[in-house]
Amino acid sequence: SGCGICTNRCPFNAISIINLPEALEDPVHRYGENMFELFGLPVISQGDVVGLIGPNGIGKSTISRILSGELKPNLGDYENPPGWDEIINFFRGSQLQEYFKKLSTGKLKTVHKPQLIDLIPEYVEGRVDELLTRADERGKLDFVIETLELEPILKRDIKKLSGGELQSIAIAAAALRDADFYYFDEPTSWLDVKQRLNVVKVIRSLQEDGKAVMVIEHDLAALDALSDYVHVLYGKPGAYGVVSKRRGVRVGINAYIKGFLREENVRFRKSEIQFKIKPPTPEEEGETLTEYSNLTKSYNGFQLNVEEGKIYLKEIVTAFGPNGIGKTTFAKILAGVEKPDKGKVKKKLKVAYKPQYLKSDFKGTVREFLHLKAQGYGTKIFKSEIARPFSLEELEDKRVEELSGGELQRLAIATTLSMDADLYVFDEPTAFLDVEQRLMAAKAMRKIIENKDSSAIIIDHDIIFLDYISDRAMVFHGTPSIEGYATSPTELRKAMNSFLSQVGITFRRDKETRRPRVNKLNSFLDRKQKEIGEYYYLK
Ligand code: ADP
Ligand code: ADP
Ligand code: MG
Ligand code: MG
Repeated sequence: SGCGICTNRCPFNAISIINLPEALEDPVHRYGENMFELFGLPVISQGDVVGLIGPNGIGKSTISRILSGELKPNLGDYENPPGWDEIINFFRGSQLQEYFKKLSTGKLKTVHKPQLIDLIPEYVEGRVDELLTRADERGKLDFVIETLELEPILKRDIKKLSGGELQSIAIAAAALRDADFYYFDEPTSWLDVKQRLNVVKVIRSLQEDGKAVMVIEHDLAALDALSDYVHVLYGKPGAYGVVSKRRGVRVGINAYIKGFLREENVRFRKSEIQFKIKPPTPEEEGETLTEYSNLTKSYNGFQLNVEEGKIYLKEIVTAFGPNGIGKTTFAKILAGVEKPDKGKVKKKLKVAYKPQYLKSDFKGTVREFLHLKAQGYGTKIFKSEIARPFSLEELEDKRVEELSGGELQRLAIATTLSMDADLYVFDEPTAFLDVEQRLMAAKAMRKIIENKDSSAIIIDHDIIFLDYISDRAMVFHGTPSIEGYATSPTELRKAMNSFLSQVGITFRRDKETRRPRVNKLNSFLDRKQKEIGEYYYLK
């Protein structure tokens, strides 16, 4: 596999580095013989938010564990790990020397919001308000509750929270502690767009108080709004990772999009990620795949109303809105998993469906799973159109039960895409994927849908991904857990305008890469765009 330029096992001609820096210094950490090695560490400074971008398995969480003091770096000597004196000496001449001096003597306080939050309920007892009151060393309880909109869940038991609620609480608890250095590992997983921006506000407030903050994030719009500086991580996932020099956030994210780090002279992707400003799609266009009437569905306490709509052949319709508003319920109605109370989908469609929550209880290897569930497994076309973009080969020997969140997601999307269907429904496909995997998935979806003369509905919260993949979009609004309304599919700009005006944020386009960037609240552009009702972008 690979494009032939590099010898690394590059799953989609993309993520491995193509030209290596001449010599790497000694590693900061190595897990063991033939195990992952980390080269370099980021520069974290007071009053700044520093972001890390890079593929899964490149060492980002390892960095946050080292800097927060959970993992003592072994400088590559896993057999005879060095003492603190040697570690401090290793970093002489850099600000990390002082950092580790203080960290090793307990003179420096760190707080770490870990990547995996599902385990929190196993360690923490009690109600949300009790937990947050205990954590509140900075006297910011009211601000954090208000900004993260936690009021409705304050009286709930920690053990009874959804993924998104747990994420918000973990972030709140970390931000309430009084520390010098704050580490947030993937804070936006499970959160909707508004919640992601609320997180930006809370993390930004730490920086405004002069704290030092590091954030690991795959949602580029969130990372962009969060960070002052970024470090790009490159190398070979699972084998080694190198921390790039620090760059300003705009330049750093653009370098990442271009796949080239000029100062280091490292190219880590063959080509640039291309963002296009799409012309508005004419309303009446193309052949219709299906139509549906107004649909309603209620559960005890919740009611969903879907405005009638039409899906064209070969188009990708995205759906977005807050959590708890009925997006998954709509996906299930289309997939035939749930029946609407009123209304119906006109044509009987063959639907392939990737649910939001994935089960990994299959007893067997990925190979066995694919044999059983994937259509055309082993064919040339499966290899090139599906196995390669989703790097399935490297997963084949693993047991499905042991896959990480991102690996399971890749397997689920790939299997769904292999099916022969009229309509593909993907519920939150970017969850746990890194930036490269998100864009690779978008490309693979687009290609397969066009080749198969089918269509897709994709629910997601990543604005950059949505911008990249949408032909048209539908917006969900209402009151979460009580009432949800879904609009008909409409052109992306109109849908984004309606959605963003409710969230209260505006986007502009980066001049160089055309990627969407969040405008600072009350900045000139923010005010101007709100005035003329163009929340998404100016031409
Ligand atoms: P990222 O956060 O960038 O996805 P991680 O820092 O979690 O990456 O992991 C980097 C690599 O180190 C991965 O290949 C992972 O499997 C490996 N790794 C992480 N923790 C351990 C550990 N405790 N022992 C051995 N290998 C590990
Ligand atoms: P979203 O995908 O937008 O987050 P969902 O469609 O999953 O929202 O859920 C919308 C609302 O319906 C939530 O309040 C949820 O708790 C409720 N709900 C979803 N499925 C069921 C069900 N099977 N039984 C009862 N309530 C449900
Ligand atoms: Mg990680
Ligand atoms: Mg959902």
